[in-house]
Amino acid sequence: MIKKRALAFGLLTLALSAFVAGCGENAENDGSSANQSGSGSETKKISFMFRGNPEEQKAYEATVKKFEEANPGVKVEIIMTAPDQYVTKLKAAIAGKNVPDVFYFEPGDLKAYVHSGVLLDLTSYFQDNAKIDLNNIWKFGVDYYRYDGNKVGQGSLYGLPKDVGPFALGYNKTMFEKAGVPLPDKDKPYTWDEFIKVNQQLTKDTNGDGKIDQFGTGLNVNWSLQAFVWSNGADWLDESRTKVTIDDPKFAEALQYFADMQNKYKITPSIEEAQTLDTYQRWMKGELAFFPVGPWDLATYDKLPFEYDLIPWPAGSTGKPATFTGSLGIGVSAKSKHPKEAAELVYYLTASPEGQQALADAKVQLPNLIDQAKQWASDTNTKPANKEEFLQVVEEYGKPMPFTLTYNREWYDLFFTDIQPVLDGQESAADYVKKQQPKMQALLDKALEQEAKAKQK
Ligand code: CA
Repeated sequence: MIKKRALAFGLLTLALSAFVAGCGENAENDGSSANQSGSGSETKKISFMFRGNPEEQKAYEATVKKFEEANPGVKVEIIMTAPDQYVTKLKAAIAGKNVPDVFYFEPGDLKAYVHSGVLLDLTSYFQDNAKIDLNNIWKFGVDYYRYDGNKVGQGSLYGLPKDVGPFALGYNKTMFEKAGVPLPDKDKPYTWDEFIKVNQQLTKDTNGDGKIDQFGTGLNVNWSLQAFVWSNGADWLDESRTKVTIDDPKFAEALQYFADMQNKYKITPSIEEAQTLDTYQRWMKGELAFFPVGPWDLATYDKLPFEYDLIPWPAGSTGKPATFTGSLGIGVSAKSKHPKEAAELVYYLTASPEGQQALADAKVQLPNLIDQAKQWASDTNTKPANKEEFLQVVEEYGKPMPFTLTYNREWYDLFFTDIQPVLDGQESAADYVKKQQPKMQALLDKALEQEAKAKQK
């Protein structure tokens, strides 16, 4: 333990080395306290970089403040970014060797960040820590951040889940009631045919000006196609995660169904209509019957001008719903000067009852602590009433995104880069998957080679 920490300290920077040498056996302590020769009371500063929508940013700022109150002597410098700028900013910080003490990271980057020495091994902080019952945190969420140098899901802990993000399907209850359409059954998913039919019933010109202004849905292919592919028994990867399997006819069928919602059944806004007002905004205005809902949306959706609730995604040929459960890790820089305080912040944000309660109360996430989450979900008086659906996604039918299972995601991204002609109805799904499979396979092969090389180091 001491050896390990001294080693981590020794790796800090060359510029510090003269100073480190002067510290002698104090090297186990962090730099600043050693420098103050035992005053021990000066503030330790750690930086925390994260991303979020405005509601999440507010919630995390407030929770960090609570952490500071509970840990006098630790000051947290917050570095906040909008969701779409985060990855770029983190990669720049890593390239510039200026990694924040505590930061969010994508589970898909775990292997690369371990092999390049970016992430600190947190096992000694969290395993056998009386404060934390790891069994009370969603297992797959914790396993996402375990890595033994060969396989993800076992071995050392390099982070804890910020949360697990079940991507459920929501519906506008008020719209159903107004139209006199029977409400969806929360315990029985629509078949694909039923889903089209109910969407057609709800797609209308409500003000009689000849233009459709209320649609069934409008799903983003990047986040919603998984639900259709998986529930039809297909996937992007085989079990060994070495073969791209999009050329499976079941895959093509799901993709075609997805594209047909717009081109054949016309239950979604057209491309032009979506450009005037995107589908998220249309959902918010009450103009869409169905739209995905993640726990991070709850604070925002509390203000919707209509009632909404959650249901399972429509089921394809397997007869079962499917969707993804996302996660983001919170890890500590291997070069942090205050690893203990940094790990304490990770604990507070991910596994402490106080921290989890604060974040659940702010309605930006599902609690990580299973007992807390069950209690949270059982309260049907807060919106959405069927929060239980989130737990069912996490425990029963949610899966990780395919790109989180491989060394990098270039192969997966290529699928979406070229997909527009299929969505526009200019290319058949069957042709597309045939054409795209070899290109994606070549990129996956490259990722597998890179992974093998990184492991040899
Ligand atoms: Ca109209």
